[in-house]
Amino acid sequence: MVKDVIVIGGGLAGTEAAWQLAERNHKIQLFEMRPKRTTGAHVSNRLGELVCSNSLGSKLYDRATGLLQNELRMLGSLLIASAEKTAVPAGGALAVDRELFAEEITTKINNHPNITVIREEVTEINIDQPTIIATGPLTSPALSEKIANLSGQEYLYFYDAISPIVVADTINMDVAFQANRYDRGENEEGDYINCPMDKAQYEAFVNALKQAETIELRDFEREDPNFFEGCIPIEQLAKRGDSTLAFGPMRPVGLTNPHTGERPYAVVQLRRDNLAGSLYNIVGFQTNIRWGQQKAILQLIPGLEDAEFIRMGQMHRNTFVNAPTLLHPTMQFRTAPNLYFGGQITGVEGYVGNVATGLVAAINLSRKLNGLSEWVLPIDTMLGALCHYVTHSEPKHFQPMKANFGIIPPLAEKVKDKRKRKELYATRALESMANSIKSLGDELIEPKHIPIPDKVI
Ligand SMILES: Cc1cc2nc3c(=O)[nH]c(=O)nc-3n(C[C@H](O)[C@H](O)[C@H](O)COP(=O)(O)OP(=O)(O)OC[C@H]3O[C@@H](n4cnc5c(N)ncnc54)[C@H](O)[C@@H]3O)c2cc1C
Repeated sequence: MVKDVIVIGGGLAGTEAAWQLAERNHKIQLFEMRPKRTTGAHVSNRLGELVCSNSLGSKLYDRATGLLQNELRMLGSLLIASAEKTAVPAGGALAVDRELFAEEITTKINNHPNITVIREEVTEINIDQPTIIATGPLTSPALSEKIANLSGQEYLYFYDAISPIVVADTINMDVAFQANRYDRGENEEGDYINCPMDKAQYEAFVNALKQAETIELRDFEREDPNFFEGCIPIEQLAKRGDSTLAFGPMRPVGLTNPHTGERPYAVVQLRRDNLAGSLYNIVGFQTNIRWGQQKAILQLIPGLEDAEFIRMGQMHRNTFVNAPTLLHPTMQFRTAPNLYFGGQITGVEGYVGNVATGLVAAINLSRKLNGLSEWVLPIDTMLGALCHYVTHSEPKHFQPMKANFGIIPPLAEKVKDKRKRKELYATRALESMANSIKSLGDELIEPKHIPIPDKVI
């Protein structure tokens, strides 16, 4: 059945979505506003341009992005095939010649008989027209306004102010303790993990923050007067005064350390980041400190000396919707069934994750147009876990997420060895993905041979 579809945005998610729909015999109008209007980060008029690094992350079998790449390969992703075709030597990473990569995608899209590329900015949304919005972190202001009208202003964000996330079982609970301030809340044990500091530890921590190097803002961020308004990074709070943090996000009020029976001088609080309780984010710790230094400074926090961070703090310009409130795991907009979202605007982070959500949106929209059931991926696949995470997080504190093993359900048996554990996650995920693809019964997404790159230790 041939049905017209509009895809808005010719970046990573939009080109993958357009390709997948076109291969399924839908007629696509792909709108891209460049070169008439730029985002401030893109530098060419090519489709599928990488805005920063030329790496699509690790390609190894047992790494989170390597697994996601393998899953996309099984689903016949255009962008993964283009990356492989234009790859440059980069050890265990899938890095590409960025110009050849974008050129390959642009040629493939321009030459597809079912795709018409229209170089115009879209400023309206017709909710009756089957549409995928894949306009990325730098969605044009006019369209952002229309998305905000649809979603409600409070459910569209323009900036990331991400606090670091820690793997729960790497927190030393001989030092940290579970409690809520003033023992409030239903959970007797307490919902928060608290890392207590004495005066000397606090002072050393504040000094480290004051000296830390931060990531430079880009021009399009610096020029925006609203940037970071309302969420000041911890390093800036530290510079405002030695006690500012102790009276702010690190205030110890209402907490007694059960290990000592005393009230700490200051406290770093961590809040559950997923329902499974395997991840915790550090409350109020948005930061722009360079990642290497950030990890070293955070490991000064008592209880976090050996903590594993699955995401470091960061702050940058990023347009994204409150996916837990607005989207189904199929990437369908809850209140407008013809509308789907793909890419960074869904709250999934990273090049490969953005490609992947574009692909999920496209397959589901195609199935809807053909009267087939929706496709919800199993959550033990990396792609299924990402779609599940962004659409099932706690809406009030929702922040974007990239591929990582912390969001995948645990294995039936506990495996201590980290490498072995990740390899088992990957094997389970690929089996599950193969079964899911088979169950779709869709000829076009038969599982493909999955090349497993040599493992590099
Ligand atoms: C500055 C910056 C650096 C980043 N660096 C990295 C990195 O190194 N590694 C990484 O993994 N991730 C990075 N990201 C995050 C993210 O992975 C990329 O932004 C990625 O390109 C997002 O893919 P996307 O398809 O969602 O959006 P994009 O690739 O940005 O595509 C969106 C497209 O929509 C177009 N568009 C916007 N509004 C309209 C409109 N109204 N009408 C028509 N077209 C429109 C844009 O011109 C753009 O071509 C970065 C993000 C930013 C902002």
